[in-house]
Amino acid sequence: MKDCLFCKIINGKIPSTKVYEDDYVFAFNDIEPQAPYHIVIVPKHHISSANEINAENSIYISKIFEIIPKLAKDLGFDQNGYRVINNCGKDGGQTVNHLHFHLTAGRQFGWPAG
Ligand code: AMP
Ligand code: ZN
Repeated sequence: MKDCLFCKIINGKIPSTKVYEDDYVFAFNDIEPQAPYHIVIVPKHHISSANEINAENSIYISKIFEIIPKLAKDLGFDQNGYRVINNCGKDGGQTVNHLHFHLTAGRQFGWPAG
């Protein structure tokens, strides 16, 4: 999608610190990290939010969630644990309208979320 920030990051028009890439998934460090590890994981296909996940595009979601434990192991926080977050829409706090999951780790997180 032409004016989408994360589509531009995926196709290299905007620089990012890439952590992982395959045919379905692109992952990069968040520019404003909320934890020692804060990786943004996006599908390499424009899906605007969790509201748009369906049977045709859910392969991207399973690919993302297959990669998460691999990244956790590679980066060494699989044993201590981590948090995966999706913000959807206005009340969810979504600011970029390309579906993404925040993979955060390296400190203990509180619950319930604020
Ligand atoms: P959300 O608020 O859930 O939509 O998350 C969007 C995330 O994208 C925020 O955590 C931002 O810090 C992050 N972000 C915005 N622009 C960039 C960028 N150019 N590179 C890396 N992360 C970004
Ligand atoms: Zn996009």
